[in-house]
Amino acid sequence: MHIQIQKTELPKEKYTDESKLGFGSLFTDHMFIADYNEAQGWHDARIVPYQPFSIDPASPVLHYSLEVFEGLKAYRYENGEVGLFRPELNCARLNQSAERMCLPQIDEALQLAAIETLVDLERDWVPSSSGTSLYIRPAMIGDGSRLGINKAQRHIFFIICSPSGSFYPNGIKPVRIHIEDRYVRAVIGGTGNVKTGGNYAASLLAAMKAKEKGFDQVLWLDGRENRNIEEVGAMNVMFVLDGKLVTPSLDGSILGGITRRSVLELAQSLGYQTVERAIPVDELFSAYHSGKLTEAFGVGTAAVISPIGELEYKGESILLGSTIGPVAKVLYDTLTGIQTGRLPDPYGWTHVVPRV
Ligand SMILES: *Cc1c(COP(=O)(O)O)cnc(C)c1O
Repeated sequence: MHIQIQKTELPKEKYTDESKLGFGSLFTDHMFIADYNEAQGWHDARIVPYQPFSIDPASPVLHYSLEVFEGLKAYRYENGEVGLFRPELNCARLNQSAERMCLPQIDEALQLAAIETLVDLERDWVPSSSGTSLYIRPAMIGDGSRLGINKAQRHIFFIICSPSGSFYPNGIKPVRIHIEDRYVRAVIGGTGNVKTGGNYAASLLAAMKAKEKGFDQVLWLDGRENRNIEEVGAMNVMFVLDGKLVTPSLDGSILGGITRRSVLELAQSLGYQTVERAIPVDELFSAYHSGKLTEAFGVGTAAVISPIGELEYKGESILLGSTIGPVAKVLYDTLTGIQTGRLPDPYGWTHVVPRV
């Protein structure tokens, strides 16, 4: 499908200080949009100046959360080129999410071409200092003018880009995590394994309450028994238990992260033993008390790897130190090295954005 490009006549002033870039509040000059209806399929693929769009107040996205999204990053390499990390996995996951939410499939090649074309046009917005990136947010919403609960009449797929600062401007600092024993995020059969806005709406209150108590994030337990470890905030979670890298298996209520998958593949390739299985919270505490639990960290696109310094559950805490652990450090350095082009990529994960 041809992508029409309408360039802005009013380019925004670009940031001058990359160390002051935060996350998600500054957007580039342009956005990608495509429309869908049953009669025409996907059509009118276009890049236009970043702007609000209008949808019907009765749109299903506004009332019933008919929405899915993705998140990935473009990195500036030392040679000036811009690269993506395994973007084809994001495109495939968007379609898996769309299927669960009764949204239409969108050709993965079109998604990738849209990302490439937009990032190529915005390449001057990709920051270059250590830890920075251009965050890319594709999303699909259901639009229409009927309140009845049904598939949407129209859909919009769009992509916006936000230059992002380093997740660790002051060096890597382990986070404090509250293990949630009251609220749950997802249950098997629900939408926990889908990247959809409703999951975030449902989890916000617990996150806010944990923040009030001085924690950075919530670690979720499974929704049936409140027993097995699931995920932390918007990240998957991993532990070094008895020298092995252990993470909850994808049982249907956990989002299958691309960082999770990459860290597991990388760890195996570096010679670590990896295990995907159920991890009861009690086991974590007993492993901690017997000295077998040595590291815990979150893994996701935003932070890549976020070491956990404290895990609190019903008033009792696991304390894992104030620096990143050795396994997390090797994985973090290797993965970010590949993502930013500083290290060779023997896995074929990097995807240089072509210049048009
Ligand atoms: C996006 C997301 C992740 C991490 O996935 P990545 O592909 O690694 O960024 C983990 N958990 C949830 C709930 C998410 O939405």
